[in-house]
Order: sequence, then structure tokens, then C-alpha cells
Amino acid sequence: MPAPKNQTPTPQVGLGDIRQLAGLLEGEGYFAWRQGGARIVLQMCDEDVMRWANWLLRGRFYSYKRKSGLVVFMSAITGIRAVGWMMTLYQFFGERRKEKIKGILAAWRRRGKAMALRTHCPRGHEYTKENTYLQRKGSRECKSCRRMFQGPRPRLAF
Ligand SMILES: [Zn+2]
Repeated sequence: MPAPKNQTPTPQVGLGDIRQLAGLLEGEGYFAWRQGGARIVLQMCDEDVMRWANWLLRGRFYSYKRKSGLVVFMSAITGIRAVGWMMTLYQFFGERRKEKIKGILAAWRRRGKAMALRTHCPRGHEYTKENTYLQRKGSRECKSCRRMFQGPRPRLAF
């Protein structure tokens, strides 16, 4: 049987990768709780380092040029994946970063509790047993709202 061609083995993320990423983020990372979500941004001028970091973070990759002509590369992740990374990286950080992340995780937990206490969806439908899907992550989805987005997209008549 011929050997399979062009098969790159799936790269494994190791503890060394995590430590190295933590080092970069300790120095150059930005951690925030913004618009009700967790956010991590890393930006640097080294394209190869940034491509590696973005591969690890599975983030959104951007680049932009400063007035000086310098090109800056960015990797950004938000939401539950940002929360997951904060929990993973926490142990590797210094006190200042730890304090910042503690605050973000506390805000995230508070929001989760507040959401669980809500009796109606953002459009005002009640979360009854019949009208609620329970999602795998434990959050609820309104069936009435889901139906609104099913079917053909309405066409604008003008
Ligand atoms: Zn709804």
C-alpha cells in the first residue's frame, strides 16, 4: 500500500506551547471584559511568532500598518474560548495579570447567574418548558425566536 501523500500530522499542543504563549501574553497581552464578554488580544510585530500564537489560540488574525510604516499583527479571541484560555493560563501569570483575570472570571460567573434567573428571552418570549431548548453548555434558547429565523429570508420590496 502506498504511503499517504501530503499528510501532515495534526500538531499537538504541549505544555511547552502553553508556557510560551503565557510568556507572550504576560508581556504583550490584553485581557478585558467588554460588552458582556471576555476578550484576549495579543499584538506584536513578529509575524512568525504571531502566526504561531494565533494557531494556538485559534483566534482571528489581523494585521495593520502604523503611521511609521511598521506592520503590527494581532490575534483576538472572545467569548467562552477566551474564558477557557484565561483559566488555562492563569497559573503561569504574575500577580497583576492574575488579579485582572480574577475580575473578568467573576464578571463572567455573575453574568451566567443573571442569565439563569431571567424568565423571558431578549425578545420577550417566556422561557416555559415548551418554549425552551436547553443547549449543551447549559444555556437556554427560545424556540419562538429560533422559528423566526427559519424559513426563507424575507425580501425587501423597495
Ligand atoms: Zn424569544
